[in-house]
Amino acid sequence: MSGRLTWRQLADLVALQVPELNGPRPDLPESCAVCRGPAPPGSWRCYPCDLHHQVAQGTLADLVVPIAFAVKGGPHASRLWQYKSARIAGGDRDVPGPGSCSGPGSCSGPGSCSGPGSCSGPGADVRAQAASRLLALLTVFIRDHGRCLWLASGVGRPSHVAVVPSARTRPGPHPLASLLAPYLTLPWAGLTARPGQHPVRELDPDRFLAAPVPGARVLLIDDTWTTGATAQSAAMSLRRAGARSVVTVVLGRHVGPGSAGAGGLLGARDPTRPAPFLAPFLTAACAVHPGRAAARGP
Ligand SMILES: [Zn+2]
Ligand SMILES: [Zn+2]
Repeated sequence: MSGRLTWRQLADLVALQVPELNGPRPDLPESCAVCRGPAPPGSWRCYPCDLHHQVAQGTLADLVVPIAFAVKGGPHASRLWQYKSARIAGGDRDVPGPGSCSGPGSCSGPGSCSGPGSCSGPGADVRAQAASRLLALLTVFIRDHGRCLWLASGVGRPSHVAVVPSARTRPGPHPLASLLAPYLTLPWAGLTARPGQHPVRELDPDRFLAAPVPGARVLLIDDTWTTGATAQSAAMSLRRAGARSVVTVVLGRHVGPGSAGAGGLLGARDPTRPAPFLAPFLTAACAVHPGRAAARGP
């Protein structure tokens, strides 16, 4: 991606995605009160969030807000790995190298190509297109619904921003942080993966090293939420480093394809009712939008 996109360009990129997105809303039944994922009928939380609550209550994020559901195999889920992947969809082939680009018109990623030799081929184009769409979704969401988050969390506006470090070690900053940097004016809270730590699906604040942030109100951003163990471990690290509050925003709350249809993970639910995860994405309402708050909670 070259240059900084305008708000109009970002809004257009969001509009392109809306028809294929599903999004959480406060009034959707049978969704976890923490991560908005599938929750067993009659339960406030899904199993992983309930487990995290039992073992680490008071040290987790104050609020978790997924922007959209990332249904496995769907376009949003695909973009969430494409934007930072060295390999692209279609198998295990590596990204084609420089020289495979034939110039403007051969790429579809906005701003990703300015002529032959300026990009590294279709693989780079796929990455750039996924990155620009995810960036648009995130920045427009924070602009339009940031206030909803600060209100719902009760902690006020953030003083710092951080990105959950990637499970895989790669040199340089996290790709999401690189994308966001030109658009956010908040100072970054230092958060890195501790060397030698391997990703596990359990809470572990020692997975990350957080620089001291006494009294900080941190906006913590992650691309994908599956069990929440990684993002919640990062929130615990930030709190241990002195953060007063952590509000976590997630680009995609992962749901398996079975969850998206009647009878999947929610096998006991009424198959005649639409699955919450098929709810259309609304740009005008987020998971904690004022006036739409659900009369339920943990
Ligand atoms: Zn949950
Ligand atoms: Zn909102």
